[in-house]
Amino acid sequence: MNAALFRLSHSRVQSFFRCRKQYWWDNLSGERPPPEIQTAAGIIGKGVHRAMKVLCETGEPEDGANELDAYLRMPAHAVAGPGTGEHRTAFSLFAAGCAAHQTIVSADRWAELDTWVASPRRGVTIQARLDRADQMAEDRFQVVDWKTGRFELDEVVDAQLDLGHLALRVVRHVPRTATVRAVAWNLRTGEQRVRELERRDAAATVQRYAGIAARIQATTAFEATPSPACGFCRWRPGCPDGNATDGGDRVEDEDEDAPEAKGDEAYGGGPA
Ligand code: SF4
Repeated sequence: MNAALFRLSHSRVQSFFRCRKQYWWDNLSGERPPPEIQTAAGIIGKGVHRAMKVLCETGEPEDGANELDAYLRMPAHAVAGPGTGEHRTAFSLFAAGCAAHQTIVSADRWAELDTWVASPRRGVTIQARLDRADQMAEDRFQVVDWKTGRFELDEVVDAQLDLGHLALRVVRHVPRTATVRAVAWNLRTGEQRVRELERRDAAATVQRYAGIAARIQATTAFEATPSPACGFCRWRPGCPDGNATDGGDRVEDEDEDAPEAKGDEAYGGGPA
């Protein structure tokens, strides 16, 4: 990892544009973050994603179900434990995931690729991750972002798909001419939001994030922007602005554990 590069992730960008005070607390305050707010929806989402990862790895629904079962039986996840409606919802979402898995016929597949794409020229390194990738043909790939929520903002979903596409190109060194179907696949509704992406889109993603990084670095005032999302902000107990609002819609956030940088600027730098 080049320490001089500015580190950016999907969740950091979302946080900056949602509430700069929250961004400041998360990234600049140096304060120890309060524990994350656990919700039943969050536990279901994480459990189903873990099960889908195992399903992708082994191809056996039973393995994914075992993973989900053990996750939901953890005492910390009792709100979605056996006998609850949340537990039934989680297994119903996983059943939809198994059906989705059956429809994907590919030559090879990878679960949960997660990397950092460094652009020394632009002074930025970007976290890029995906839930699942498949090679459908020599020059054709698919990236899947599993969704388990009732509501997603289209532009947020598209940003996640663009980063998943970037992760695939960097980690798998796909051919420069390859095209990628990036799909946000909602296991609750069956809805698929699809983006058709090429190598130039990966370059555009890096350029866009570099521009955001420059803007964040030039920011000196980190004002609070109270909104319904305050109800799910872990800094709220110490935030007078946030305490003045009513909590509301759930805003999905990403785990920001930062693995070591692996990528470089060769997004899509595989054989021509
Ligand atoms: S509670 Fe609301 S206003 Fe305060 S930091 Fe969090 S998101 Fe921003």
